[in-house]
Amino acid sequence: MRSRIVAAGLFLAGCIGPSLLGQSSHINPWEPVNLAPLPPIASLSGGVWMKGDLHVHSRHSKESSNNSIGKILSYSHSVGLDYICITDHDNHVLGDVEHHTWADPEFKSEDSLLLLYGAEWTTTRGHGNVFSAHPYDHQRLYDVRDQRDIVVGAVKKELGVHLSANHPSGKDHFGYSYDMVDSIEVWNSALWSKNANAIMIWDDMLSSGRKLTGRGGSDAHHGLPDTPEQATKNSPQAKYNYIGTPTTWVFAKERTRQSVVDALTNGRVSVSANPYAPRVEFYADLDQDGKMDMMMGDNTKATGKPVKFRVQLTGKAVLADATYTVKVVKDGNPYNTYTMTGRAAVAEFTDTPLEKGRTYYRVTVEGPSTPYPQVPDSMKLSEPMVGLSNPIYFNFDPNF
Ligand SMILES: [Zn+2]
Ligand SMILES: [Zn+2]
Repeated sequence: MRSRIVAAGLFLAGCIGPSLLGQSSHINPWEPVNLAPLPPIASLSGGVWMKGDLHVHSRHSKESSNNSIGKILSYSHSVGLDYICITDHDNHVLGDVEHHTWADPEFKSEDSLLLLYGAEWTTTRGHGNVFSAHPYDHQRLYDVRDQRDIVVGAVKKELGVHLSANHPSGKDHFGYSYDMVDSIEVWNSALWSKNANAIMIWDDMLSSGRKLTGRGGSDAHHGLPDTPEQATKNSPQAKYNYIGTPTTWVFAKERTRQSVVDALTNGRVSVSANPYAPRVEFYADLDQDGKMDMMMGDNTKATGKPVKFRVQLTGKAVLADATYTVKVVKDGNPYNTYTMTGRAAVAEFTDTPLEKGRTYYRVTVEGPSTPYPQVPDSMKLSEPMVGLSNPIYFNFDPNF
């Protein structure tokens, strides 16, 4: 009996031997392969930079105060925003945003300040913002909120809207699959430091192959009272967190609502601490001819040759004598840090993305904060962040 057991043991050892020695014939069907040709990169010059806020609550959200839509729009005009999305809580109106926020007589889009259609999808499993160039049937998304992700995702697809994961690591974090979202709120409110886990989740999703746009949103609920009698216990918030803290820049093909939503989906997006702060731009020169070929949000096939990357700060608020720190993240890990002065606010580096398999690069820029006199206490909370870019992507599968 004993000898038979020993023999069986020897036989088993013989069976598992080759795989222990790395001679397994197993082939992982998900190993990186050469991708089919990717769509060409869109023009780097045919477009317009537009800035806005993608997470703002008006009086149609029950816990907001002194924030009528008229007030939000006139304020946004006054600080030079190009677009805004008022995202009231849908649960306060049982999903019927169409007859509340959108039907408000003050809800009017203008060429100089485009007003997106949207709402904060407010569910048991957390919050997500919807962005759309057109009115859509939000009620359907509200009704499906407690169903399985696959059902929710199908409704979202049918509606043709952009869905974005809100404050992904905080209270009411987005608790659904990231397979059905187009963007993630990586910078919620002026308080930059609380976003560290949101950034970690973003990097995790990017590393797993999801081409997911990072965006900002102030989540402002409270405006300044017009009279002392209107003041609420939350009114002081307007001094440290209000519209534009932070500000999301999009490189839109043209000045239309659809172009703003498309730019958000495609990732030609960067986020700045406030509407006056410098804008971070991130480009790549694929053939080293000195001319940039792609920008943040763009995805191309890696050639195995070195690529030159350029980070630049743009805008009147760039301080000539200040030093800015550029931190490059590659595939979720710190890659390198560069410094630049405001006088020549450009940093360049060269790296070779893998010819097979995915690679992404994104940057954050730190430095002196830009005064935002209307929201004077926001600057301290945003420090040391100036802005962040979306990634430049190599070999990301559009059919992921
Ligand atoms: Zn929320
Ligand atoms: Zn909110």
